[in-house]
Amino acid sequence: MPPTGPSASAPGPDAGKPERVLRLAGFDRDDIVDGPGLRCVVFVQGCPHHCPGCQNPQTWAFEGGEEVTPSELFRRIEDTVLDTGVTFSGGEPFAQADALADLARMLRPRYDVACYTGYLFEALLAKSERDEGTRRLLESIDILVDGPFVEARKDRMLLFRGSANQRILDVPASLAARAAVWTTDPGWVGEDGAARAG
Ligand code: SF4
Repeated sequence: MPPTGPSASAPGPDAGKPERVLRLAGFDRDDIVDGPGLRCVVFVQGCPHHCPGCQNPQTWAFEGGEEVTPSELFRRIEDTVLDTGVTFSGGEPFAQADALADLARMLRPRYDVACYTGYLFEALLAKSERDEGTRRLLESIDILVDGPFVEARKDRMLLFRGSANQRILDVPASLAARAAVWTTDPGWVGEDGAARAG
């Protein structure tokens, strides 16, 4: 039976409150380049980093894009059937942390959830002390690929990263340690962890 309303497939994050709205730049299904396995990719609209050499400068403006609720996006992801992972990309996902945290909570544990960010984990951890959205999003994802794209360190051979300064972090372990902890998941870093090199 098809879903009949915003909460048909998943409960809203805060019962009785209107849903938050996400500004979306794009949505891909069956993606194989933004994490292991078949994945949905949620590209958010708006990025403050403006990294030279960015491949998605059309996502920088905080205006434009499509407004969707987390529940609407959840249903699009459910409809993909084959995809087992979801990646938040951008734009800057942490600029819309509250709405993405709502979505991530609907997705887990059925999907593994990864997030790219131009911020460093340490900066997000510090911000999470005063910003509930940042805290909720960190607590709702499995993997964080952190740091800005640095053109001088660009390497096309890197797995799931654009430049060698970026790290692929196990977020629950990093939160427990209160320090950045690389993932050991071979899907992300290879059987021998070689993707950590650089
Ligand atoms: S953080 Fe990502 S989307 Fe934003 S400017 Fe850098 S590479 Fe582009």
